[in-house]
Amino acid sequence: MERSDDQQGMETTAENPFVVRFAQFFENTQKKNIEKLVSKYPEKRSLEIDFKELEHYDFELADELLQNPDYVLEAAQLAIQGIDVPALNLDEFKPHVRIFNLPEEAMPILRDIGSAQLSKLLSVEGTIVQITEVLPKLLRAVWECRRCGNTYTILQSSNNQQQPTVCECRAHDFTLKSNTSTFVDFQKIRVQEPIELIKGNQQPTNLDVYVIDDLVNKVTPGDRIKATGILRLVPPKEKKLVYGRFLEAVHIEETEKNFEEVEITKEEEEEIRKLAKDKEVYEKLVKSIAPNIYGHEVVKESIALQLFGGVKKILPGQNRIRGNIHILLVGEPGVAKSQLLQAVDNIAPKSIYSAGKTTSAAGLSATAVKDEFGEGGWTLKAGALVLASGGMALIDELDKMDPEDRSALHEALEQESISVAKAGIVTRFKTETSVLSAANPKYSRFDPYQNFMEQINLPASLVSRFDLFFMIRDVLDRKKDEEISAHILKTHQAGEMMLQQIKNKSMEKQKEVAEMEKLITPAIEGKMMKKYISYARQNIFPVLTAEAIKNISDFYIDLRDQGKKQGTYTATHRQLEGLVRLSEASARVRLSDTVEIEDTDRAIRLFRTALQELVVDQETGKIDFDIINVGRTQTELTNLKKILGIIKDKAREIDMVPMQEVIDEAKTQGLDEEKTKEIFSKLEKAGDIYRPKYGFVKPTQPK
Ligand code: ADP
Ligand code: MG
Repeated sequence: MERSDDQQGMETTAENPFVVRFAQFFENTQKKNIEKLVSKYPEKRSLEIDFKELEHYDFELADELLQNPDYVLEAAQLAIQGIDVPALNLDEFKPHVRIFNLPEEAMPILRDIGSAQLSKLLSVEGTIVQITEVLPKLLRAVWECRRCGNTYTILQSSNNQQQPTVCECRAHDFTLKSNTSTFVDFQKIRVQEPIELIKGNQQPTNLDVYVIDDLVNKVTPGDRIKATGILRLVPPKEKKLVYGRFLEAVHIEETEKNFEEVEITKEEEEEIRKLAKDKEVYEKLVKSIAPNIYGHEVVKESIALQLFGGVKKILPGQNRIRGNIHILLVGEPGVAKSQLLQAVDNIAPKSIYSAGKTTSAAGLSATAVKDEFGEGGWTLKAGALVLASGGMALIDELDKMDPEDRSALHEALEQESISVAKAGIVTRFKTETSVLSAANPKYSRFDPYQNFMEQINLPASLVSRFDLFFMIRDVLDRKKDEEISAHILKTHQAGEMMLQQIKNKSMEKQKEVAEMEKLITPAIEGKMMKKYISYARQNIFPVLTAEAIKNISDFYIDLRDQGKKQGTYTATHRQLEGLVRLSEASARVRLSDTVEIEDTDRAIRLFRTALQELVVDQETGKIDFDIINVGRTQTELTNLKKILGIIKDKAREIDMVPMQEVIDEAKTQGLDEEKTKEIFSKLEKAGDIYRPKYGFVKPTQPK
C-alpha cells in the first residue's frame, strides 16, 4: 500500500487497491441508494455512507478510511464513478461520498485534538459561533501564458493556488482565466466546544470547518453540529513555525441542541425520584443556590423554578407559547446580584454569563461583521442569547448594555428568536433561552418616593417581558446587617479552614472543618442538581388541573377587578402566562404530571412578593401595573393630562402661555408648584409642549 506524497491525477490512481473494495461495497449494499441518487442528480449530489455499515461490510477498509482518509476517499470517488447503474452518464456523474457516524475513538472532544489527528478522519461536535458568507473557491484553474497565449488546466487540490511554473515558450508569467476556470461554493464555519462542557472560566476551544458545494449554507450560528472531516494544517502567515488547523468537512449534520446532553444512569434516576418526593425538596433547592449568600430566599426560590422552566407549547398553526421563565433583579450596588448570577451559572446545566459591555464581540444577539475570518466578506457571529439557546443566559449590568443589544433582547425574550438584517444577509436565529438578568438603579440608590420605572434605566416594554422582577434594596437594618455580616465572615472562615487543611494536610481540625464545610455546601450537590434539572426538563410535562386553573384565574381576575375599581389598568395577560409557567415549573420539581393548587399557590406567592415593592403607585399606595407596562402610573398620567389640558385651554386665547399662569391654575386643582414644574419637563420630553421663550410654553398640537 505504497503512496507517493505528491498529488497524483485521478487517472494514475487506478491502481489504488481500495477502489475495487469500495466498488464491491457499493455494488452489494448501496445499489438502491445510488440509483435514487442518479435519478435526482445533480440537484442531489452526495451519497451518504454510514461508517458502521461500511465497518460491518469490510472492517479493514473502514479502518483504513480512518487512518488514511485522503487515499481511501479518493478510491471511493473512483469506485462510485465506475459503478454500473442504468441511465448513468458516467462523464457527468461525480457525486461526493460523505461518511458519517464514526466510532467513538474518532470523535475527540475539541480541546483534545492535537497533532496526532492530523490527516486523519474524525468527527467533532460543537456549537457554531461564526460562519462566513458563501465564497467562490477555485477548483479547476485555467492559466494563460501572457506571452504566447497557451493555456494550462490545473486541478487545485491543496489550499494554496497551484499554477504552471514554466510555459512551452519558456515564459513564467500566467494569468488566471476566471471565465473558463471552475469554482465551487465554499464556506468557513467556526465551531466551539459545547458550552455545557466548558467548565468555569475556561477559554472555549474553537475549530474551523471548511465546507464546499452542497454542504454550504446548511447551518447557521447557534446550531449544534457534528462535523466529520479530515484535519489539515493552515500554513502560517510569513515564516512562522506555528500552524493553524482546520477540518475539511466530508459530512455535517445538525444534532439535537437541547438543554442537556447530561447522561443519567438508572441509580441516578432513583436518587432524583427520591429527592423529588422529599417534603423539603423546595427548601433544599433554595439552600443549594448560592449557599454563601445570605437571605434572598424568595429570589432563590424563583430562580429554582426558572431552572426547571415552564412547558413550551406549540399550538396548531405554528403558534408557540414560550416555556422559559425570565427574571430581572434590579438592585442597589453590593447586594450580591452578580454573585447570584455567577452561582446560577455554575448550577445550570447549560448557561452563559455575560456582563455589561464586556460581552463577546458578537454581543448578546447576533451580528454581521467584516473580519479576517470572513476573508474580506461578511461573517455572521452568534452572541450569548443564541449560543445559550436551550439553556440560560445570565446577563449582568443590563443597564450598561448597548442599546442595540437591548433591543435584540426584546425580540429574544418573547419571540425566542432574533432576526438579523445586515449587509444583504437576512437570517433568524433561535434563542430559546431563559434569561436571568441584573441591573442597577439609575442613580445607584432607590428613592422610595419615586416610581420604580423612573429609577431604572430600562424601557418599560422590556421590563414587562420578564415574568418576575425584584427590587433589591440595601436596607440599613441593624439586625439584618449583623446576620449578613456573620454569614459572610463565617463563609470566609470556612473557606480559609478548608484551604488550610488542604495545604497542611493536617487531620487535627477535621471535625471543626467538617462542620464549617456544611455551612457552605449546597444541600443538593452540583452534579446532582444539574441531572435533576435536566431530568425534569426532559421528561416532565405537567398539565394544569381544574383546581389549579381556578386558583390562578381567581387571583388574576381579582387583580384585574381591583384595577377596574381604582380606574387603573392592572395585570396583563403576560403576567397571567408568567403565573402558569411558574406553576408548571413548581410541578416539575416534584416530577408531577399535574399542576396542583400547591404549585399555583407557590407561583402566586412569589409573584406577589416580587410585586409588593414595585408596582405600588407611590402617590396613592395602590397596585398599578401601568408602572411596568407603560412606565407611568395612572395618577401620573392623569396629572400629565390635567396640565396639558390647562396649557391647551389657555393657548386658545394667547399665543404663548406664561408658565406661572399654569402653575397657579394647577394649584387650584391640587398640584403644587414643584409637581407642575416636573410635569412641564415630562411633557416637553414627550414632545407634547415646547418652550418658545424663557418662562413660556406652547402646545405642539393646539387641538
Ligand atoms: P452587586 O452585583 O449587587 O453589586 P456583588 O454580587 O458584587 O453585588 O456583591 C458584593 C459583595 O458583597 C460580594 O462579595 C457578596 O458576596 C457580598 N454580599 C452582599 N450581600 C450578601 C449577602 N446577603 N450574603 C453574603 N454576601 C453578600
Ligand atoms: Mg454587580
